[in-house]
Amino acid sequence: MPELPEVETICRGIRPHLLDQRIDQFILRQAKLRWPIPPKLRKLLPDLTISSVERRGKYILIHCQKGYLLLHMGMSGSLRILPGNQPPGKHDHWDLRLENGHCLRYHDPRRFGATLWTSDIPANHKLLARLGPEPLSDAFNTDDLWQQSRQRKVSIKAFIMNSQIVVGVGNIYASESLFMAGIHPSRAAGKISKPRLQKLTDAIKVVLQKAIEQGGTTLKDFQQQDGKPGYFAQQLLVYGRDSQPCFNCQTPIRKKVIGQRASFYCPVCQKY
Ligand SMILES: [Zn+2]
Repeated sequence: MPELPEVETICRGIRPHLLDQRIDQFILRQAKLRWPIPPKLRKLLPDLTISSVERRGKYILIHCQKGYLLLHMGMSGSLRILPGNQPPGKHDHWDLRLENGHCLRYHDPRRFGATLWTSDIPANHKLLARLGPEPLSDAFNTDDLWQQSRQRKVSIKAFIMNSQIVVGVGNIYASESLFMAGIHPSRAAGKISKPRLQKLTDAIKVVLQKAIEQGGTTLKDFQQQDGKPGYFAQQLLVYGRDSQPCFNCQTPIRKKVIGQRASFYCPVCQKY
């Protein structure tokens, strides 16, 4: 599943190819994604010019004069920039053809992704309205996290993975940042001290920033046919390392299911 760093990389990868381009045609082959793709896009999009490509959480927002295309990659979605005459393959559900002869092509074998339209400002859209702050912005900070977590009995891991608290902290990044902050993943969110939450907000920012920087190295592949960004190969400290020695203290890493998600932690290093 593409996580926030992958979506940021997709956004940075496609942006220079789309900015200031006039849309020639929207070719829709399969409208049945998580929600149906509005058929009116076929008539609405041609002749509009793209003025920005931004990310909010795991959504990509393409501003096309009259409104915004709102894209989500779901479980298996990807976007590529291709020559417009390249024949579509299986699961290539739509093309956005540009005046320069290239197209933006959406591929999604499992079809859990979304392609929607809003003529309102995106922050008002029902899918975006309740999203918490961006993790790399100043709006995500220790003071707010501390206030919101008081009295909360939910595990700290589920708490930081809740997109109403902060967006983009997926399962891997949650496990990694809790290890860096020395916090046990099942500890109640409301029981964690402010200095420890400070370590956690710092760790979340570091882990995501590092993943985005690594994603930058895949940008050159965006115009290749197989240039689909997957999980970035990165050094993981605990995730997927059950029974292997902790890099810090050599204790075997433990695996535990918390809130239906696999969690990995060191029982010695993560005792707060
Ligand atoms: Zn350890």
